[in-house]
Amino acid sequence: MSLCLDKKCSWCCDPVKVFFGQDIPKDSEWKDIWIKRKEIWISEKYIDSVRLEIYDCILYDKNIWLCSAYENRPEICNKSWCFDKKTWELSDEVRKRFISDVFIKLDYKWKK
Ligand code: SF4
Ligand code: SF4
Repeated sequence: MSLCLDKKCSWCCDPVKVFFGQDIPKDSEWKDIWIKRKEIWISEKYIDSVRLEIYDCILYDKNIWLCSAYENRPEICNKSWCFDKKTWELSDEVRKRFISDVFIKLDYKWKK
């Protein structure tokens, strides 16, 4: 069972939050499926080290709050799990920690 589906959790997808320099997954026509927002999120807890780029995913279905292609989601999404690193099992405690993270949200403008 998937914890995401079980908990109807879409924290990782809405919006997508990734470290800088991450390769963007592509669709079958080799187009990006994540659209970059002009935002950076900074973790309040790890303020000196965690800065995230923010994207909207075109496969995220806001009507059902879930991925519209969950069974065939890209590898990077498939690897995003709430694992307990001691047991390597899915953990709702880990999920609760993730979703309770607080971020400072910065808007920015593209330089020309
Ligand atoms: S926080 Fe965990 S349960 Fe929620 S979407 Fe991400 S991987 Fe799935
Ligand atoms: S492809 Fe699916 S699992 Fe991956 S970010 Fe988009 S909505 Fe989430």
